[in-house]
Amino acid sequence: MTHNLRGSSPDPPERCQICVIGSGAGGAVVAAELAEAGFDVVVLEEGGYYPTSELSHDPLRMLPRLYRNAGGDSTLGRAPVMYTEGRCVGGSTVINAGVCYRTPSDVLHRWAMGLGSDEFLPENLAPLFERVEKELHVSRVPESLYSKDSKLMLEAARAKNYHTVPVMRNIHACQGTNMCILGCPTGAKQSTLVTYLPRAERAGAQIFANCRVQKIELDGAKATGVEYHVLDPLTGKRGPTRFLRADWIFVAGGGMQSPSILFRSGITRKLKWVGKTLFLHPNTKCVAIFPDEVNAWQGSIQGFQVDEFADQGLTFGTTFLPPGILALALPFYGREMDRIMEQYHHLSVWGVLVEDSHPGRLRFTPKGLPIASYKLTRADVQRFKFGILKLAELFFDAGARKVLLPIRGFEYAEHPDDLRMLERYPLKPGQLSLFSVHLMGTCRMGHSSRTSVVDVNHRVHGLRNLFIADASVFPGPIRVNPMVTIMAMATRAAQNFVEKQRNFLQAA
Ligand SMILES: Cc1cc2nc3c(=O)[nH]c(=O)nc-3n(C[C@H](O)[C@H](O)[C@H](O)COP(=O)(O)OP(=O)(O)OC[C@H]3O[C@@H](n4cnc5c(N)ncnc54)[C@H](O)[C@@H]3O)c2cc1C
Repeated sequence: MTHNLRGSSPDPPERCQICVIGSGAGGAVVAAELAEAGFDVVVLEEGGYYPTSELSHDPLRMLPRLYRNAGGDSTLGRAPVMYTEGRCVGGSTVINAGVCYRTPSDVLHRWAMGLGSDEFLPENLAPLFERVEKELHVSRVPESLYSKDSKLMLEAARAKNYHTVPVMRNIHACQGTNMCILGCPTGAKQSTLVTYLPRAERAGAQIFANCRVQKIELDGAKATGVEYHVLDPLTGKRGPTRFLRADWIFVAGGGMQSPSILFRSGITRKLKWVGKTLFLHPNTKCVAIFPDEVNAWQGSIQGFQVDEFADQGLTFGTTFLPPGILALALPFYGREMDRIMEQYHHLSVWGVLVEDSHPGRLRFTPKGLPIASYKLTRADVQRFKFGILKLAELFFDAGARKVLLPIRGFEYAEHPDDLRMLERYPLKPGQLSLFSVHLMGTCRMGHSSRTSVVDVNHRVHGLRNLFIADASVFPGPIRVNPMVTIMAMATRAAQNFVEKQRNFLQAA
């Protein structure tokens, strides 16, 4: 792979046909599809290049390398939501849990109607999902890989007659190391680092790590190229400003960064919807202490999900974390934290994801960095409370001795009766510990610049040759993990682009 991590690769060229900004779920797919269609593609990726052999279980080493701001960002507002984005070659696909869902069919029907295009109907997108799933080896997690805490959750859910669905993941020969969020140490997780990017490179694309795009240069309705800096891989210090001329540009920096690139390029002056609809699909986690060892770190990060309350926008699943990350996520300190972490082998972490009922929004600092504000509605607070209660009930049914709750001021439940108290507890949004890893919707798709940022072909309104193909273009929240939707949409964006260029050449 071409990269400049060790300073040994050539500099990026001064011009190309297609510049792709970002190498995650959206960018890598676009790069591979367009390079295979014969275009001269250059990918500029801000993060470093860390092949599988350099991934380790040490959070102090991996967080600053793979995550933007070492994973420590937060929204403003009640309640603050801690969020993380990947920043490396492969983007967030390198650090995600690899759970693969197609977009729910009711969501696609809504999109098709809102966008006035049958192309978004489930039956018409199916070939694109199949193409992505084949490349990623998406398959059902075998029960032999279920962790012990997965089995405990499954038993408790079945005893309550809750509906469960087996989880599909992009894995190939998974060893169940449960280190997904620090980068798969065996290469089993089929992130874009080991799938689409090598494919793009085989088709001639050039991929450059440590290249941060500052802005897109415009000449009227045309984007002429990108201004970028090469970053020192060790210090992050900015090198001199460089320029890459391109005939077409695809922005794929993710839900927070793509709108920021548009802001830095002056595009938000004309497109008021940039950053306006931020969906987070927030989650929260309960941790239980079991009397016996659970060793939840052995096995697949997830084997199934409980979707009994999907009609209320709630999904439950196991989500065990490596020790360093778990300690960071717990709201305890000093001796209390020591006592909990000493019982690591007895711990289990289960989470609930809640579909947003209302979007947040982005503003930008004068330097063009995003500041997210997000407010939980009263209904969402109640749904989180309901989710926490149900998770804690499942934990006690599974035999937990104590449940640590993500609620400041109500941190423990030592008995199921405590949950009855929680039912009556006047929970305020600011008491919840919330997280998000599913950032989307900030450059949403639609018909006109008055209500959206890109058109149905991912083209930025008012600009002939500028496209966006990542999580930011979702017209709304999707209730499930978004990677496969992003990739299917990016495939569609690339294929439509190729077809339009062919038609243009034939007509000329
Ligand atoms: C911890 C974690 C767990 C997750 N688990 C799941 C899961 O199980 N299933 C699922 O479906 N989804 C999961 N997700 C979410 C999923 O990975 C993301 O939604 C998806 O990868 C987003 O794709 P994207 O192309 O929008 O952005 P990304 O994949 O984040 O890629 C964006 C890339 O653009 C680069 N970039 C940004 N700005 C610039 C710039 N100015 N110049 C150059 N490059 C730039 C970034 O460095 C990054 O590499 C998870 C995410 C995280 C963080």
